[in-house]
Amino acid sequence: MKIILLGPPGAGKGTIAKALMQFDGSVQISTGDILRSAIAAGTELGKQVEAAMAAGDLVTDELIMGIMEQRLQQEDCKKGYLLDGFPRTIPQAEALKELLAKLGEKLDCALELDIPTDVIVDRLTSRRTCVKCGEIFNVKYKPPAVEGICDVCGGDVVQRDDETEEAIQNRLQVYNDQTAPLVEFYRNGGLLVSVPSSDIDDVMAAIKSRI
Ligand code: AMP
Repeated sequence: MKIILLGPPGAGKGTIAKALMQFDGSVQISTGDILRSAIAAGTELGKQVEAAMAAGDLVTDELIMGIMEQRLQQEDCKKGYLLDGFPRTIPQAEALKELLAKLGEKLDCALELDIPTDVIVDRLTSRRTCVKCGEIFNVKYKPPAVEGICDVCGGDVVQRDDETEEAIQNRLQVYNDQTAPLVEFYRNGGLLVSVPSSDIDDVMAAIKSRI
């Protein structure tokens, strides 16, 4: 499958991508994960994007397109890919369209997870992440057995800088201003599939009816 996952931060794009990977070996490509790894590794790219990410702002289209142009040509993309967090602006969507035309590839669909804002804010402010292995916890629904310590690897479990109440409000604003117009963009392109849920069975049913 070649799918774009659309939806606000906290809609469940990463979880759905991981579940979809099981079906046909498509790879999840999360631009957020790529950038967080660069920050953790202290690379030049990491230093360039650190402040914007902590504030919940977007990094530049040029930078993201440079990363994605290389990533989409790697061998593991041949079986398909699930784009999680990309594209995020109309210029990125236009550039992706050109890139895919150049590579002779076609998307199956742009899958919109349409989740109410109050659910998202609650989900994101209670989310905690292991700094070592990336395991996700939730202080309300899935706390670690020992507070602040990862059940999987023993690493520190913390609230991400961009998951504080203030950063989340900014991320939602950025989503509404810059990313939400992509729903119309892909609807007009005949690629939009909208699912009012992040339940994997609902999502699979919507995808099957489409592919
Ligand atoms: P995510 O994990 O997808 O929520 O991304 C975390 C942060 O990484 C975002 O708030 C942005 O700062 C940055 N980011 C990720 N993907 C993109 C993108 N496609 N365009 C611009 N910034 C991005």
